[in-house]
Amino acid sequence: MSNDFLSLANTGVQKLRPYQAGKPTDELERELGITDIVKLASNENPLGLSESVKLALLKELTELTRYPDANGFYLKQALASKYAVDVNQVTLGNGSNDLLELIARAFVEPTNEVMFAEHAFVVYPLVTQAIGAQAVVVKAKDYGHDLPAMAAAITGNTKLIFIANPNNPTGTFLEQAELKDFLAKVPATVLVVLDEAYFEYAASERRGNAIAWIAEFPNLIVSRTFSKAYGLAGLRVGYSISHPDIADILNRVRQPFNCNALALKAAETILQDEQYLADSVALNNAGMKDLSAFFDANNLEYIPSMGNFITVNVSNPADKKMVDDKTADNKTGDEVYQQLLLEGVIVRPITGYGLPNHLRISIGTEAENQRFKQALTHVLNLQ
Ligand SMILES: *Cc1c(COP(=O)(O)O)cnc(C)c1O
Repeated sequence: MSNDFLSLANTGVQKLRPYQAGKPTDELERELGITDIVKLASNENPLGLSESVKLALLKELTELTRYPDANGFYLKQALASKYAVDVNQVTLGNGSNDLLELIARAFVEPTNEVMFAEHAFVVYPLVTQAIGAQAVVVKAKDYGHDLPAMAAAITGNTKLIFIANPNNPTGTFLEQAELKDFLAKVPATVLVVLDEAYFEYAASERRGNAIAWIAEFPNLIVSRTFSKAYGLAGLRVGYSISHPDIADILNRVRQPFNCNALALKAAETILQDEQYLADSVALNNAGMKDLSAFFDANNLEYIPSMGNFITVNVSNPADKKMVDDKTADNKTGDEVYQQLLLEGVIVRPITGYGLPNHLRISIGTEAENQRFKQALTHVLNLQ
């Protein structure tokens, strides 16, 4: 018996496609019957969970019969003090994706436009589609955001603009001056979400402090996460900093217990663990250098990245003349991805981001990067 439930779903949802996550290690283990798999597919922290967090979580286990603090009091306080903002400017989310969705749900009507760049983070089109609003995708420039073009594309219907800095999956980075110029051109009635999921990895002398701009641009919302440099992806916790009135609205829409007790405790703990953060960034910098040098040596073009991943064109080694996207020598990103899987290495194909010749590689430990380099050397017949 077939019921057409899809036609019952609201119009936005009818056209939704599920988010395609990185392939889980367990899944590949089951499929290939192999172990020793390296996953460099989801921009996770290769350092593993901080010892300080492990201890804190063990203590917290006895409290799990209780609901978590619905207001996340201690975590919000810690964040407010770290970033010199008022507690009522902080909103906590079940990962920062939760916040991206909350912001869209709270502010955007189906008749509104939501703007983001070509090759930008896939959650922006997803949340836009889910509420049935109009997506305005502005063509990328050098794989990154073209801010002047975005400013020019603002209309009377524009309600929300998403900007990822650094961007995922391209790793491209916008300088502070460019961003400020852009914000100055955005009407006060248009919200700008600056998604800084990879903030901690970006060069400290260039990443600035966009949170401090909220006083000047109250329509700016900065979102960040504990999933990447802080190594808590599995616990799901992120936050936004905004004007207090925006935070108040988001707090009305969010589920009261959207951050669970372990996530709150872990986030509070890792914020104090400066060594873990420093080690994460150092490991990432070393791995980024290593993989860039490897790509250089093999004439593989990559997009310089400020994140914890690097996106490389595996289809067209620069010294080979390409006839079309697919010849014996020029495999598509999806094909190379499949062949890397057989070598036990999971990376991320990004055809869905309009980059069919590229793969996104999360920076791993030294040993994981080594495995990736060997596997790619084999698959692409490099020297
Ligand atoms: C990983 C990522 C996020 C954060 O995801 P969480 O929900 O916090 O795990 C947000 N934005 C971008 C651009 C990302 O790549």
